[in-house]
Amino acid sequence: MAKSKRGHALWSLPSRGRGTCPICESTRIKLLYPRRATDGTNIKVCKRCDKVSQEKVDASILVK
Ligand SMILES: [Zn+2]
Repeated sequence: MAKSKRGHALWSLPSRGRGTCPICESTRIKLLYPRRATDGTNIKVCKRCDKVSQEKVDASILVK
């Protein structure tokens, strides 16, 4: 399978896969990992935040 998180595959994504992570608030980081909050909201998070607890995912959407 092609690497979907590296190289030119990213260029077809909005902002080329980059943005501000809703959990750690790193700017211009690659947001490639989808997480789903308990209320059904889907968010994209960075590599570091892919492994965070469900509570942190839920908290990040409440802040907004
Ligand atoms: Zn993050």
